[in-house]
Amino acid sequence: MRKQKFRHSKKNQERGEKSAERRTQRAKHVYFFSADHTEGNAAMKNLLGGKGANLAEMARLGFPVPPGFSISTEACTYFFASGHAHPPDFESEVTVHINRVERVLGKKFGDPKNPLLFSVRSGARISMPGMMDTVLNLGLTDITVEGLSRASGSERFAYDSYRRFLQMFGNVVMGLEKDELEGVLEAKKRERGITRDDELDAADLRDVAERLKNRIEDLSGVSVPQDPLDQLWHAIDAVFKSWNTPRAITYRKIHKIPDEWGTAVTVQSMVFGNFGDDSGTGVCFSRNPATGEDTLYGEFLKNAQGEDVVAGIRTPKSIAELTHVFPECFVELRDIAKKLERHFRDLQDIEFTIERGKLWILQVRGGKRTPRAAVKIAVDLEKERLISKDEALLRVDPQSVEILFKPAFDPDVLRERFSKGLPASPGAAVGEVVFDPDEARSLSDDGHRVILVRTETSPDDIGGIAAAEGIVTSRGGMTSHAALVARGMGKPCVVGCEELMVSYRDEELRVGERVVKRGEWISIDGATGEVFFGKVPLVDSPVPEDLTLILSWADERRTLGVMANADTPEQARKARELGAEGIGLCRTEHMFFAEDRLPLFQQVILARDEKERRAALGGIKPLQKDDFIEIFRVMESLPVIIRFLDPPLHEFLPRDAKEIGELARELGIAPEEIQKKVEDLREANPMLGHRGSRLGLTYPEIYEMQAEAVLEAAAELTRNGISVIPKIMLPLIMSVGEFTLLEQRVREVARRVFREQKTSVPYTIGTMIEVPRACLRAGEIAKAAEFFSFGTNDLTQTTFGLSRDDSMRFLKDYLEKKIFGEDPFVSIDRYAVGELIKIGRDRGKETRPDLEVGICGEHGGDPASIEFCHEIGLDYVSCSPFRVPVARLAAAQAALRQETSEKGEAE
Ligand code: PEP
Ligand code: MG
Repeated sequence: MRKQKFRHSKKNQERGEKSAERRTQRAKHVYFFSADHTEGNAAMKNLLGGKGANLAEMARLGFPVPPGFSISTEACTYFFASGHAHPPDFESEVTVHINRVERVLGKKFGDPKNPLLFSVRSGARISMPGMMDTVLNLGLTDITVEGLSRASGSERFAYDSYRRFLQMFGNVVMGLEKDELEGVLEAKKRERGITRDDELDAADLRDVAERLKNRIEDLSGVSVPQDPLDQLWHAIDAVFKSWNTPRAITYRKIHKIPDEWGTAVTVQSMVFGNFGDDSGTGVCFSRNPATGEDTLYGEFLKNAQGEDVVAGIRTPKSIAELTHVFPECFVELRDIAKKLERHFRDLQDIEFTIERGKLWILQVRGGKRTPRAAVKIAVDLEKERLISKDEALLRVDPQSVEILFKPAFDPDVLRERFSKGLPASPGAAVGEVVFDPDEARSLSDDGHRVILVRTETSPDDIGGIAAAEGIVTSRGGMTSHAALVARGMGKPCVVGCEELMVSYRDEELRVGERVVKRGEWISIDGATGEVFFGKVPLVDSPVPEDLTLILSWADERRTLGVMANADTPEQARKARELGAEGIGLCRTEHMFFAEDRLPLFQQVILARDEKERRAALGGIKPLQKDDFIEIFRVMESLPVIIRFLDPPLHEFLPRDAKEIGELARELGIAPEEIQKKVEDLREANPMLGHRGSRLGLTYPEIYEMQAEAVLEAAAELTRNGISVIPKIMLPLIMSVGEFTLLEQRVREVARRVFREQKTSVPYTIGTMIEVPRACLRAGEIAKAAEFFSFGTNDLTQTTFGLSRDDSMRFLKDYLEKKIFGEDPFVSIDRYAVGELIKIGRDRGKETRPDLEVGICGEHGGDPASIEFCHEIGLDYVSCSPFRVPVARLAAAQAALRQETSEKGEAE
């Protein structure tokens, strides 16, 4: 950087000015904050980033915040739009603000006697922990470091600050590897025969700084600028650029943060936690972010600078110990945390520094929390009258609720403990040990369950963390990167497992003599911090009471019904327990897939004629009927929609010769005969072939058997005084003629069954709407069909013309290239599939105004799709049992959001 001058060329600047958006020209881009005068506030997150907006708010409210200024996200978007130029007048605006800070503090940036130093940090609208970059102690040079040494009276402190600055600048601005630079410090410690940083004295650190400068120059060919202003401009641009590092891009993708937002940059005067033993730094939460308990929670390190705590390099002490070390600061901090929590009406995550006994607040933001804590905090804040029930409902991410119903370890199985660390994010996870985040991704793509084990994680590991079932780190505390990220994702995580020796080279974990190798199984409990040998069996865990309460509030607010997709009595039980208002889809073929039943159904398929087929169906009917009896019993008084056989028949037959041979022996049929059937059933596009109601047309006796099983079960229970609401649903209907034919056959069966059973049961017959033709012909179909359920899995497949089974191989390119924002098989494509649903609903209701309309594809458990279903006024969504609570909450949130936006429009 010595030769490579920072100032971009005039030409570059002009190009930028022309190409960047006009509206940002001459706009204000820098906002000041100090105890005396502040230009921003908490509402300005889009412009100042979360960090800048909240600092402004705290300064306004009189909290002890070191003065500084924030550079707007618009300056960042301009920077990218213009090919790395700055907005007009931006540079003079920054200079004016440096002067303002100088005036407030009575210090000068670059002063050789008593220099003002800055921290330069990134801050997006939404916090992205550890994703973007920070430079501390900016303004230190060979000259100013001497001034700092004299002014502070501590040469050791001055050179410790300088070497930290050089390391951060070398890494963040000059793009050198962190480890390369940390290696300089490590080498010095080795030479001196010491292990801890704080054992290095002033002379050592002076030497480390010198070596770092040389190392940086050797590695990069340029040296660290000795002009503080030059340093600042490099740092600002580096923070802008950090918005587009691969790890930040991955994080945005996972958390669905738009690329266009850009980051703000906060430039704040430094306070020092590394002054000596009367100083320190830490992070605390106004409540426990893992459990939601209302106690100040967090960690601190004596004689350290901010990044030491969050980076997870040194294992910090619990915040409770602050009472012994800095009792007054502890009381003040507790007080501030409560005030901030009351002001922002939510859990707060606070970064603080104690400089020579004085407490400073460096940052505050809404705290990330586990799903369990989110629920408890929302309920507690409502009880404390800080928020309303509606706000509490909106505070819980519906998607994360699912984890609370996730399995825990089976308490009856003995576990052999391997190690114990800190319980960073609850939940039980089981997987094969993997050390490399990329390998974690690829193994997980291949269907393996993996636990990612690291000494500590860095933001680059984000993809591996997302792919793993759980995370273990040997170092770091509860606010380390691994802990925050895993908690945000709701993944089990154990950190600070200090006794674990993690060797990437030997690909093993060791505690003394006990070793676990890569690929071997471990089990982790993120709620206790324990790590166990092997594969501990998992069981369902009890649902927290607070969640039951929140969900009951959700039920009061939602208007959309929530049903479950359940095929077995067990699933039906789970679904009802989790609040399903009935079964929206019982896929009857799943009843044939059970191991003991499959051969019976294979006999049906292999039957040579109708007589044989009927005989084989006779063997299955009692089993199917028993299932329906049980399901109806579980769902007493609630509707149960039973969908008749749907998949192509080849799915039930074996493929390879060995399995065909086994089946032939079992059924006493020649293998050649089975082979021939397999050939006969082969289709080029089976998902668009002989399946759904087409099967019912070709083999009337199959649907006949299913109708008998459903209606006999219903009749028997009705005679025993149990209220049942059977609804028969035909799959993949494409025309009214096809529907009417099948419907009439069912009705004939019903008349016969009710005659035989000497009772009758009200029942309805409806259809799935899964192909575009059915949407367009819905008006006709509704003349016969009594209800519609959109099968959005198939409707997406048939609308896009993309196989629901195979398309992810190339759909991911569409997502990467942003041709589609979301995987349409996960979240409803509102533009085409959604349009077809609306057309189908409108045409259906025109014919039959009281037509009941819902969806039962996988989208029924996706919050964004649920919002869509609410907006267009469907009657219900149906989803897998564990997602029923997700859907209840998402439906309530959709109703609340709609109310708010309607109110907004009315005003
Ligand atoms: C659907 O297609 O959306 C549906 C629910 O049916 P299946 O997934 O069984 O094809
Ligand atoms: Mg379908």
